[in-house]
Amino acid sequence: MEKTLSIIKPDAVKKGVIGKIIDRFESNNLRVAGMKKIQLSRADAEAFYAVHKERGFFGELVDFMISGPVVVIALEGEDAMTKNRELMGATNPKEAKPGTIRADFADSIDANAVHGSDSVENAAVEIAFFFSQRELS
Ligand code: ATP
Ligand code: MG
Repeated sequence: MEKTLSIIKPDAVKKGVIGKIIDRFESNNLRVAGMKKIQLSRADAEAFYAVHKERGFFGELVDFMISGPVVVIALEGEDAMTKNRELMGATNPKEAKPGTIRADFADSIDANAVHGSDSVENAAVEIAFFFSQRELS
């Protein structure tokens, strides 16, 4: 079974929609294999989003990701990476299809409710970044 990483970002945690977002996953055959609520340090966020460090929005992205706790979730299911990206919707919530997580819960391109791995290879790296083997089942 394929795995992918989801992060419920600080805006969605503050809004109190953790449960509603997890329901989207479970209702679409994505199983929670691992989950925890954590406060990222600046070093954590910089390392996690290192691929974007040359982008103009990197500083804002890191500031936003450490602005409050996040929920990190390892999801498992058939085509989990692609399915999660479909459920999330476009990066900019204004462009996200109706019924997607970002269309329903996100406010802006910065505060866009969720992260999702963008390839199966990156998913493995991202899951290992947050979870030890004993935290996954
Ligand atoms: P994520 O990686 O968080 O799942 P994504 O894969 O849809 O989002 P990326 O291109 O990987 O989008 O960008 C990472 C994050 O950086 C986005 O979720 C968004 O919050 C922020 N971001 C991306 N593009 C911009 C932009 N043009 N202006 C401001 N923030 C941006
Ligand atoms: Mg991305």
